[in-house]
Amino acid sequence: MTGQERSEEKSECVSMSPMMEADPALPESERVCVFGTGDLGHSLGLRLLQAGYGVVFGSRQPHSSSRLPHGAQVLGHAAAAQSAHLIFIAVQREHYDFLVPLANQLKGKVLVDLSNNLRKNQYPEANAEYLQSLVPGAEVVKGFNTLSAWSLQNGPSDANRQVYICGESAEAKQAVIAVATKLGFSALDRGSISVARELEDFPLQLFPQWRLPLRIAIGLSAAFFFYLLIRDIIYAYVTQGKDISFRIMVSLANKVCPIVSLIMLSLCYLPGVLASFLQLYRGTKYRRFPDWLDRWMLCRKQLGLLALGFAFLHVLYTLIIPIRYFVRFKVTERTVSVIRENRTTEFDTTTAWRSDSYLSLGILGFGLYVLLGITSLPSVINSLSWREFSFVQSKLGHLTLLLCTAHTYLYGWNRFLSSSTYKWYTPPGYMLCLVLPSVVLLLKLLLITPCVDRTITRIRQGWERGGRSEEP
Ligand code: NAP
Repeated sequence: MTGQERSEEKSECVSMSPMMEADPALPESERVCVFGTGDLGHSLGLRLLQAGYGVVFGSRQPHSSSRLPHGAQVLGHAAAAQSAHLIFIAVQREHYDFLVPLANQLKGKVLVDLSNNLRKNQYPEANAEYLQSLVPGAEVVKGFNTLSAWSLQNGPSDANRQVYICGESAEAKQAVIAVATKLGFSALDRGSISVARELEDFPLQLFPQWRLPLRIAIGLSAAFFFYLLIRDIIYAYVTQGKDISFRIMVSLANKVCPIVSLIMLSLCYLPGVLASFLQLYRGTKYRRFPDWLDRWMLCRKQLGLLALGFAFLHVLYTLIIPIRYFVRFKVTERTVSVIRENRTTEFDTTTAWRSDSYLSLGILGFGLYVLLGITSLPSVINSLSWREFSFVQSKLGHLTLLLCTAHTYLYGWNRFLSSSTYKWYTPPGYMLCLVLPSVVLLLKLLLITPCVDRTITRIRQGWERGGRSEEP
């Protein structure tokens, strides 16, 4: 550094705390530089200071930067670049050309590109590759871009503990990993700089795993809503001239929710059953499943959670039944007519059994549903062994499906055989929704019969029919 540069640096240095200044005695690995004093730069600087690093900001206006964390130092870009080996670039990509005149000062430095874009494929090349082309003498590492300024200030929690990095130089990546670790994050090296675009697309993802399950849920809800609207409301209006449209709000909703819930729970377990039959048919586990089955299996958790959501709504709608005006009116009307006509009604033990069993199976099914939901949380999954997880998700999952299916069969009871049930020759919604879970449960029953189970277990342990690992 020339004498002139040194004196320039002194005059540029404007904000320094006597307690936590970027101590020149600190080894270079303990000092970091952040270009940009905006939202992310500010939050990152704060966390770095809290972790014990000396932080030097590089800013366009070092004299008027007012948003700096206490203890940080702020200099012009050129002077700040001299103070540390590792420089975080917390500036929008559009402004990266300010780095070109700094090429000499940035030679050999590690530049961490934190930038994100507003949409996918916004630029022909990844921001990190662009940065590398502007400053070829530096080692660019892409990283930390999946964290928000807010989460950096709040410290790592379970959900955002991981940071992804990529870059060409192993040494540069190691330096970034060391900082990430000291800040409490676990860094995952995703490879070379060519992965940068993928990392830049991460924050732009919009529920990718939820899209298919959400479409299925919306499609099923709409289909069953219109089906039941025609069968219940329009049928009553056309055939009896009765306007019962008020039932749309609670009765219809309370039919659609359990129907969609049961179908989605079946859809959650159907791909596993299909995969087992495919392995049985092929006699090996070493051939890839078709893409559609792979995709379906990957969204089972989301299907199950949406099914739980619909079951929860069904429970809420059911709990409010006694306070509905229509129900209170009907009960009062019936009681008054019994008193007026001086009638007595017989207690029907069979109906009592049916009603209690129906409710009890529903409650047990919902209890297990909630348990499945809880065990799908990442923090709970992490605390379970593989055997515990597969016991809950597979064995208890199929038991949940069995209980909810039995709950629906009991709801139908003897109405399956009554012709008045089939309005306009169409089956009621609860009958339609029983088809899929019944098929899944029958197929599962076949799979757990001892001879099939034995074969499928051998296949999963690597045995191949007529293949390399077949036993003599
Ligand atoms: P910001 O609040 O707009 O701050 C950007 C900073 O860049 C400014 O404060 C300014 O600092 C500097 N700057 C502005 N124009 C400049 C120019 N022409 N030349 C040189 N420096 C200039 O942006 P941010 O939210 O902190 O985001 C910074 C980068 O981090 C972006 O690439 C963004 O995609 C990425 N990122 C942000 C977040 C987040 O939560 N905010 C999360 C992940 C990634 P000085 O005035 O001190 O020079």
